[in-house]
Amino acid sequence: MAQDLPRRKFDALVIGAGGGGLQAALQLARADAHVAVVSKVFPTRSHTVAAQGGINAALANVLPDNWHWHMFDTVKGGDYLGDQDAIEYMCRTAPRLVVELEHAGVPFSRLDNGKIYQRPFGGQSQNFGGEQAARTCAAADRTGHAILHSLYQQNIRAKTHFFDEYFALDLIVDDDGYILGAVVLEIETGKPLIIEAKATLLATGGAGQIYRTNTNAHINTGDGMAMALRAGIPLQDMEFFQFHPTGIAGKGMLITEGARGEGGYLLNKDGERFMERYAPHAKDLASRDVVSRAIYTEVKEGRGCGPDGDHVMLKLDHLGPEVIQKRLPGIRATIQAFLHMDPVNEPIPIYPTAHYTMGGIPTNRHGQVVTPAGQTPEEVVPGLYAAGECACVSVHGANRLGGNSLLDIVVFGRAAGNHIIEQLQTNRYHRPMTGDSIERTMARLQRWDRKGDGISVGEMRNRLKKAMEDYCGVFRTEDLLAEGVQKIVELEGQMDSVRLKDHSRIFNTARIEALELENLMDIAVATMCSAHARRESRGAHSRVDYPERDDEHWLKHTLFFKEGRKLDYKPVRTKPLTVESFPPKARVY
Ligand SMILES: Cc1cc2nc3c(=O)[nH]c(=O)nc-3n(C[C@H](O)[C@H](O)[C@H](O)COP(=O)(O)OP(=O)(O)OC[C@H]3O[C@@H](n4cnc5c(N)ncnc54)[C@H](O)[C@@H]3O)c2cc1C
Repeated sequence: MAQDLPRRKFDALVIGAGGGGLQAALQLARADAHVAVVSKVFPTRSHTVAAQGGINAALANVLPDNWHWHMFDTVKGGDYLGDQDAIEYMCRTAPRLVVELEHAGVPFSRLDNGKIYQRPFGGQSQNFGGEQAARTCAAADRTGHAILHSLYQQNIRAKTHFFDEYFALDLIVDDDGYILGAVVLEIETGKPLIIEAKATLLATGGAGQIYRTNTNAHINTGDGMAMALRAGIPLQDMEFFQFHPTGIAGKGMLITEGARGEGGYLLNKDGERFMERYAPHAKDLASRDVVSRAIYTEVKEGRGCGPDGDHVMLKLDHLGPEVIQKRLPGIRATIQAFLHMDPVNEPIPIYPTAHYTMGGIPTNRHGQVVTPAGQTPEEVVPGLYAAGECACVSVHGANRLGGNSLLDIVVFGRAAGNHIIEQLQTNRYHRPMTGDSIERTMARLQRWDRKGDGISVGEMRNRLKKAMEDYCGVFRTEDLLAEGVQKIVELEGQMDSVRLKDHSRIFNTARIEALELENLMDIAVATMCSAHARRESRGAHSRVDYPERDDEHWLKHTLFFKEGRKLDYKPVRTKPLTVESFPPKARVY
């Protein structure tokens, strides 16, 4: 059957057209590589477009700064689980990358002296934990939009080949474990296509859709991570899922941390600025896990606002209409559209919402996918790279700092692109296709020809999201997680009963949603099982029954394998490239 499918051949295949994928593709196309980008949505609809607050780089345009302070904050923000070689590389590269983006056309906001505007964000400090820093380079509150559009235009100019609205199903793996490209589906026609490549990069973004209330687009279903799992590659640190403190209460849309960076602050029902109790130094700009837990605690202890006492308030009105309109125009429009209120006049109701996948496909700082567990040096999966939110390099450790993800995607997208260019010098020919991975993918696809009675895709997705919210939220316990594992495995077992409904009018999009559900299920199982296993509190993983961080037993990365739901662990790379390590310390803000 595989030999009957149409084929295209490229030097490199990039799956995903967000900031990570487009930055990698640009490096490749500019080096005259024949590169294809596959995206299930039109590239500029990729989720990077939604990023609001900005991108971190120690430019020191507003306050004193340097990359080493940025590195310290990132290691501390990640609760010492981040790999320090990758963190050093990212923070050192950041200023150069932001200038490159500026030259690519990103219209950053400006200071009066013409330099790029930078705002304070959570967890940023001067001088290794001193006064607040201002490190986040912003294009008003539409930074991701500006970056994505600039990168897309530069790719068009560099003649990158785009497969718009194609859905990647699976990686093609040969008998030696080499990745040879992917099987994709043209969404409009439903026809499969084989794309052969000498190198394949996964840049498919995060998996926020495993939770019911989240800030993510509907497309963030963890497809690339699930493709890796199906190819036998483990996912790393999936228990660490970031809940952003300021989602619109009851709805989940994001109010950027930039709103607090501009001077906004949180209030409970008594009008108390409660973050002063939880983080006396950084207050409202403590790292996100700290602020989210504080809001939960306020609400749980009866100090929440509103008739049901189920949220707190974010006060911005004291900033004045000029600042709000100049620095936070998108936020103001979002609040007006969804809450029918104006932040210029009154505080807004907010509550934590699922936001960012810290875990993902394990990579080194060149973007190469590395496995298996516990080996030094780790083994590289030949032909496969990953970058952006789907990857775990790991620069965010147990908790990502705001502004570091846009940085991660461009730094490691670029690093992966550059490494692929080097590899293409020696891997000059396409390898012959052996193995039966294409047949397995086609069989999986055919499964969704089954229609009729059963659980609908939508119903199963709702059950999955509710289970994740109920059992794997901000605060976790042994009982809750054990029950959660049972529940999610039960749901996984019911996947065979899921059917596409409505015999007469099955659209290709219905089949795509079913395929996305399969991916969501794999990611949810990985997240729940990894969370159940980790018996300590670190960063975003907060165990009420194990409230302390336990470096003796748990300063290690989790690896989850789909086969047998097996868990393994590997050491954290605590040695940076050129400077001294930052050893674990108590994390106070
Ligand atoms: C509301 C919001 C605001 C944010 N603000 C900030 C911020 O201010 N600063 C910051 O640093 N970070 C921010 N983040 C985080 C940051 O935006 C993301 O982590 C980052 O943009 C992810 O980029 P990416 O390239 O990895 O993936 P994405 O931009 O999510 O792109 C994924 C791509 O993969 C494609 N894809 C996925 N699955 C498939 C498939 N099966 N087949 C084909 N294509 C597929 C999609 O079509 C898309 O092109 C924010 C996140 C959210 C949700």
